[in-house]
Amino acid sequence: MDQLTSCKTCSKEVAQSATVCPHCGAKLKMNLIEKLVLYVIVSFAALYLIAIIGIKWSK
Ligand SMILES: [Zn+2]
Repeated sequence: MDQLTSCKTCSKEVAQSATVCPHCGAKLKMNLIEKLVLYVIVSFAALYLIAIIGIKWSK
């Protein structure tokens, strides 16, 4: 069940799970790191919102 993404270097289709492009050999790990960073930011935003709602409800 590999989702396809396009290589930033050669713009050919590459499996999202691949860390290196099979066509040109460019590293694709950046995409994974970007996703992780986005996940962390979203998680913190969600926790922040929950904390604000919790404070409002406790008063
Ligand atoms: Zn490539």
